[in-house]
Amino acid sequence: MGSVGAKEVPVLLSPEGLRIDGRKLDELRPLSIRAGALHQADGSAAVEWGANKVLAAVYGPREVHPRHLQQNHKAVIQCRYNMAAFSVDERKRPGLDRRSQEISKVIGEAFESVVFVEEYPRTSIDIYIEVLQANAGTRCAGVVAASVALADAGIPMADLLPAVAVGKVGGAIALDLKKEEDNFGEADLPMALVPQSGRLVLLQMEGHLTEPELAQALDLGVKGCREIYEQMKRALRERYAVGPTAGASS
Ligand code: UDP
Repeated sequence: MGSVGAKEVPVLLSPEGLRIDGRKLDELRPLSIRAGALHQADGSAAVEWGANKVLAAVYGPREVHPRHLQQNHKAVIQCRYNMAAFSVDERKRPGLDRRSQEISKVIGEAFESVVFVEEYPRTSIDIYIEVLQANAGTRCAGVVAASVALADAGIPMADLLPAVAVGKVGGAIALDLKKEEDNFGEADLPMALVPQSGRLVLLQMEGHLTEPELAQALDLGVKGCREIYEQMKRALRERYAVGPTAGASS
């Protein structure tokens, strides 16, 4: 541990180039995705990613509530990201705060660009993301879970939407930050990728990166998203596989 003022700062990168949990710079945390984890929703998914545990439930296309949000030429996507009070070390005040409103908004907008909203005018597609345990990267875990849940609900989309946060820790660009890296690192850059077109539909940044570092971070993030994409497809294949294991979770 090094120290800055009164604050203890952990050593984020070893001389061998390994991170606080022993990962390499381009290594993802263990990720498991289960499509169809909830029975009541039209579509759902459970994601465990490092120490993150996130559920997503999707409903729709269905009637729009509140009514005034209805759009005549397309479906509206309403997303609610929520963090449980028990999901973090220091109890989080329950309910929607500014952070969760912002995250709900950026995730909803990201899905607007992949879901074929024009096919369902005057309806709503509702996405609920519940973070049960948080360890940084929960908005990305939420996007991954919601994306698989949308596919599970049979909602037509251009593509799935893998997402990951890249950042700078101990002076190096690193994939998929965990809590200490997010807290004490130099930058955090969550992103979501449309794999087939290569388009980023969610990109945020906290901290500082030089232009070459930003290019490197985007590159690493895209590679990470492509790895996650394969796992998302695998989860859906497992859910809908024909054979003795079919429908295991229904
Ligand atoms: N966090 C927390 N309390 C809060 C909000 C966030 O402890 O009220 C933690 C939580 O572990 C979260 C991390 O800080 O995953 C990073 O939060 P950020 O806002 O960067 O979003 P995220 O990385 O989860 O998308």
